[in-house]
Amino acid sequence: MNTSNVDAGFAPVAVADNALYVSALRNEFPILNQRVHGNVPLVYLDNAATTQRPIPVINATTDYLLHSHSNVHRGGHALAMEATRLFELTRSRIQAFLNAPLPEEIIYTRGTTESVNLVASAWGDDNVKSGDEVIVSEMDHHAVIVPMQMLCQRKGATLRVLPVLDNGTLDLDALPDLINNRTKLIAVNHVSNALGTINDVKSICALARPRGITTLIDGAQAVAHLKVDVQDIDCDFYVFSAHKLYGPTGVGALYGRAEIMSSMSPYQGGGSMIASVSFEGTTYNDLPYRFEAGTQNIEGAVGLGAALEWFGGLDHSAVAKHEQSLLRRATEGLSAIKGLRIIGNAPNKIGIISFVVDGIHASDIGVLCDEQGVALRVGHHCTMPLMKRFGVGSTARASAGVYTTHSEIDALVTSVGKAVRMLS
Ligand code: PLP
Repeated sequence: MNTSNVDAGFAPVAVADNALYVSALRNEFPILNQRVHGNVPLVYLDNAATTQRPIPVINATTDYLLHSHSNVHRGGHALAMEATRLFELTRSRIQAFLNAPLPEEIIYTRGTTESVNLVASAWGDDNVKSGDEVIVSEMDHHAVIVPMQMLCQRKGATLRVLPVLDNGTLDLDALPDLINNRTKLIAVNHVSNALGTINDVKSICALARPRGITTLIDGAQAVAHLKVDVQDIDCDFYVFSAHKLYGPTGVGALYGRAEIMSSMSPYQGGGSMIASVSFEGTTYNDLPYRFEAGTQNIEGAVGLGAALEWFGGLDHSAVAKHEQSLLRRATEGLSAIKGLRIIGNAPNKIGIISFVVDGIHASDIGVLCDEQGVALRVGHHCTMPLMKRFGVGSTARASAGVYTTHSEIDALVTSVGKAVRMLS
């Protein structure tokens, strides 16, 4: 693949000063600056699936591997101490990023999916009993629905579903009627990966807290777009993945209130999670190590720490304004294409836009857009119940990152328009 200026093929757009800020930011992402399929500029609009990594994050991981790699916590030598310092530094950065009260409330995991499974197993097995109820939402990712469904099946509990309204918002008015004295947990995403809807998770937690219902918020799509404050949201658990936040794959975190986690049974057994082991019995380590059995993804943690530092240094008000202007531009441009229907028109959305076109399969649109360099995601987005709710099998989805430009949105609209004309 060639490297060249991705915007070279499009007219320069001076929509807002923020656009200048964003074009400077792109210098940190060489991967974006290339041509694909021979000679078309890459337009990367698959950020909800995974974000690209800036040079400082790549360098931090490489530096760690070149100079500091060792296993953590288990050695008194120089490298072990440095690796441990970096590993624990990221834990405190995650704590600060989420505004969690304590560093030990942050558990390293492989990402959102493992974090949810940890809660479903370690918390769920102790706290959900036959006849109890767990609430998920109709717009949740399979990473939330399936572990909770498995928990309910194991325990003989019932899974209840908070519905989604036609505009792609949660039907919060239905929540009080879904809750009863058997409700043990409400798990819901902060932002929908398929629709872009920002959910009012604070209100959900406010309803749950006085009733003694535990809350789990899936922040996979929120962390790169919203300021997250777990104390303000007042949730019990909050989960996210580094790779949706300009960090590495295979690492993420679970925030859990110490009060709850300190009485939870371990998730996995192994090294690090124990205080003492004998054939007569084992005692377990304190938080957070009780939930971190075995060697963790240490270079991943270092990369996540660098991603948090890099992300924290951005001008978030400029980025947020820019993202909203991209969303408006994409919504207007795509809506003008005959037969195209946007799925999810919530008043509060991040820069995600899902759409279908009458009589055309989403995957055909994806293929033709890709030929024009525009990387979209097509499919059910791991939200099959949500697709069913909207009467579609799949959608095409464009999702913005901090580096997305107005000219890339124009390229999206042009490529979708062209694909639709070719396929009609
Ligand atoms: N939840 C949401 C809302 C997501 O968008 C995703 C990934 O797309 C996940 C959970 C699962 O994240 P991961 O695959 O990083 O575990």
